[in-house]
Amino acid sequence: MNKLCQSCGMPLKRDPNGGGSNADGSKSNDYCSHCYVDGAFAQPDINAEAMRQLCINNITAGGIPKILARLLTRKIPKLKRWSV
Ligand SMILES: [Zn+2]
Repeated sequence: MNKLCQSCGMPLKRDPNGGGSNADGSKSNDYCSHCYVDGAFAQPDINAEAMRQLCINNITAGGIPKILARLLTRKIPKLKRWSV
């Protein structure tokens, strides 16, 4: 099992649902419940840079400085979903 969601980089153990769901109802080993629902991406048309911006917004909304948010999200473009 991947430790990080391969779409947004969130640690899967911090996912309250324990991961995204596959089409057959099993848990996804790669993606969190925000990114992947019932076997499909929640935002199918997003790209890595837009995903990174979204995560930066979410992180800074939680009171974390933007410079730290940028650091935390710097690996997003290298995740499995974007490395095609
Ligand atoms: Zn995710």
